[in-house]
Amino acid sequence: MDVRRISPATAEADDAGPDREAVPFARTEICAEARQAAQRVLASGWVTTGPETLLFEREFAAYVGAAHAVAVSSCTAALELALRALRLPPGSRVLVPTLTFCGTAHAVLHAGLRPVLVDVDPDTGMPAAPQVTAAVAATGRPAAMVVVHLAGAPAPLDELAQAADLPLDLVLEDAAHALGTYVGSRPVGALSRAACFSFYATKNLPIGEGGMVTTDDAELAAQVHRGRLHGMSADAWRRYQPGATWQYTVEEPGLKANMTDLQAAIGRRQLLHLPEWQRTREALAARYTAGLRDVPGLRLPREPAGGRHAWHLYPVRVAEQEYGRERDLLIRQLAARGIGTSVHFLPLHRMPYFRRTALCPTGGFPGADALYPGLLSLPMHPGLTGRQVDAVCRALRELGPDPEGPR
Ligand SMILES: *Cc1c(COP(=O)(O)O)cnc(C)c1O
Repeated sequence: MDVRRISPATAEADDAGPDREAVPFARTEICAEARQAAQRVLASGWVTTGPETLLFEREFAAYVGAAHAVAVSSCTAALELALRALRLPPGSRVLVPTLTFCGTAHAVLHAGLRPVLVDVDPDTGMPAAPQVTAAVAATGRPAAMVVVHLAGAPAPLDELAQAADLPLDLVLEDAAHALGTYVGSRPVGALSRAACFSFYATKNLPIGEGGMVTTDDAELAAQVHRGRLHGMSADAWRRYQPGATWQYTVEEPGLKANMTDLQAAIGRRQLLHLPEWQRTREALAARYTAGLRDVPGLRLPREPAGGRHAWHLYPVRVAEQEYGRERDLLIRQLAARGIGTSVHFLPLHRMPYFRRTALCPTGGFPGADALYPGLLSLPMHPGLTGRQVDAVCRALRELGPDPEGPR
């Protein structure tokens, strides 16, 4: 593979014409302090889970207002470990929105449970009470539910739990998009039994790879802690401390899903920049909204009525009839202008694998099916400039309906 072709920096240099600046969909910013901290860990003689991980967990827990945080290898592992910690009978039904990343449903399956796909409200892209009620009516009483704060918009946790007739203790959050999201006046972190975050390369706190489970429940935190490293009763770092014993036992078949100190060292320094990055995301979202407000055929994401949007994504909806161009053609034409976009997500019920492994409501998925063909995520990352946002808005205007009449 020619690595130069996928490097965002090189792509920018190659594609940029004299008056056209390429706009990558995402770009992983690793701050200088994080690079220096990573070097120090590499030189320290201890690179896997250890003191940096412990400090990252403490600092992250404080940031999201949770009593406990356990660092793991990914959000998908975080979800699987949190689901396992619920100790549900094998095969129990777990509600999952159909409009999410496949990892949400994979975690349910890997935990030995059965995903029940829930349709979404076409206005928000997330399930609301009627969709949850319909899924429960068709598939029976669920044992638990995973709520996804899509794009970083706050999902109505309490309303969804009520509709599923589940206590919040049996609700988990896929918070991969929701670092910085507030539901009402409270940050996502300890609103349900546990929240699961991602530090994947494009997420709001990028490390490259990594995840975190946050919770107020000490017992759940202890189970995730054990489960992330083979189910062992003592981790290697503790066993190798001077004066410590080598001894441990294995209490369950855990995962190998621990975070390394190299990742944690990067994460700790990235966390210091997060408030500033979030303010940048808010400003970029506002600039898109102002720049696209009057383009016919484009529906824009809204500021939440209560709470706070983390603006992980800026997803617009292209109404094909009104805009005059179908979404996939628009994606190709934007790409030809050097503008990277994406789609979040192909609904799970449209993939044969999930049709086989998940339970589906009898009425199908009218909300997600109406929404999906128009979904388009615009470039969004804190390295994006106002000028680049303006260039994206200009392109969407130029490719959109001709004000002089039909083509
Ligand atoms: C990215 C993402 C995940 C998976 O995160 P990983 O850290 O890559 O495992 C899960 N759910 C959603 C909604 C995501 O966007």
